[in-house]
Amino acid sequence: MSGKADPRTAGEGTTSRTRLDRGRGALGPALELVHTGRAPTRAVLTAELGVTRATAGAVAAELEALGLIRVDARPGAAAGSQGRPSHRLSVAEDGPVALAAQVHADGFRAALVGLGGRIVATAPGCETVDADPAKVLGSVVEAGAGLLRTTGRRCVGAGLAVPSAVAEPDGLALNPLHLAWPAGAPVRRIFAECVRAAGIDGPAFAANDVNLAALAEHRHGAGRGARDLLCVATGHRGVGGALVLDGRLHTGSSGLALEVGHLTVNPEGRPCHCGSRGCLDVEADPLAFLTAAGRDPGPEVSLLQQANDLIRHHYDDEAVRGATEALIDRLGLGLAGLVNILNPDRIILGGLHRALLDADPQRLRAVVADRSLWGQSGGVPILPCTLDHNSLVGAAELAWQPVLDDPLTALT
Ligand SMILES: [Zn+2]
Repeated sequence: MSGKADPRTAGEGTTSRTRLDRGRGALGPALELVHTGRAPTRAVLTAELGVTRATAGAVAAELEALGLIRVDARPGAAAGSQGRPSHRLSVAEDGPVALAAQVHADGFRAALVGLGGRIVATAPGCETVDADPAKVLGSVVEAGAGLLRTTGRRCVGAGLAVPSAVAEPDGLALNPLHLAWPAGAPVRRIFAECVRAAGIDGPAFAANDVNLAALAEHRHGAGRGARDLLCVATGHRGVGGALVLDGRLHTGSSGLALEVGHLTVNPEGRPCHCGSRGCLDVEADPLAFLTAAGRDPGPEVSLLQQANDLIRHHYDDEAVRGATEALIDRLGLGLAGLVNILNPDRIILGGLHRALLDADPQRLRAVVADRSLWGQSGGVPILPCTLDHNSLVGAAELAWQPVLDDPLTALT
């Protein structure tokens, strides 16, 4: 359309067009507010967006028409409350999903994840990881495609979490140290090819598993509301870190920031696969814990599960308690260094580190406070991660991002 508006209706036309334009720009921010649970009602949405009630109503209706959210226009009023309750907003329970995939040292898993970080379906975990990334990624995508067929859900795209730094802009897994994959494997390209070959629409993404865990926890879990969120976690092997600044992952100039696993925490410690010695990666991961506790890692369940089980069920065993304290001290030393450099306002711990924190929170907080400059004066909150499968949920966040940025363009 072009040309001048009819002067008789120009006023009215301008008003509704302006509302539409504003509304369109607000669709992404509005969806993100509902997605992260920060706008449970239309009144909150109106206030958060800083728009008129009419614009917020139009935006919510548009997101509902896209099948992304549900607007409950007749919510039951709370007992004793006055006046008409605001329309209730929630993510659509039968809406689209993202295909999420994770590969780790002890296997791989596929899941479908809806808005709100809700895991809709998971395929059973598989326990062998082939040395050829194309075989593993083909299998995990096939498992995800099976879930899409059985649920009949629309798919917005796919995301993959890997236990390796992923170099940008090419999506190369630079150091899959605990997988038999070749260093520098082009995992994003391979994953995208598998997704296309399975007939799944939408873009495909890949990133480091701890980065994705941190992103998921920031949006839906223990990191909500933090401005400078530091996440440190073990996977099944090794240790990773991530930083979420103002809601965005800090990835460095080429995706390789926050390699916290190779901080030295024990100068006389065991040799690390990176060529150094005494790194957090080999001094504070599940294998290090089992070794310190004098346990022979058995083949029956994953190292992570064996280590978690020992801490949770055998903490009164002297060797287990001693190993827990030794690992807490090493982890605390690493965290103290990170606190000095990054000045986070919250630290969250995942994998085995979460179990270490649960076992003796006072000891860990004391080590961090004693060994860090700012720890002594401020005291950074240190909390456990709270989401199940946070790397999978984070992988889905990658696939959801284009929809969160511009729902209309991504879905129509
Ligand atoms: Zn190292």
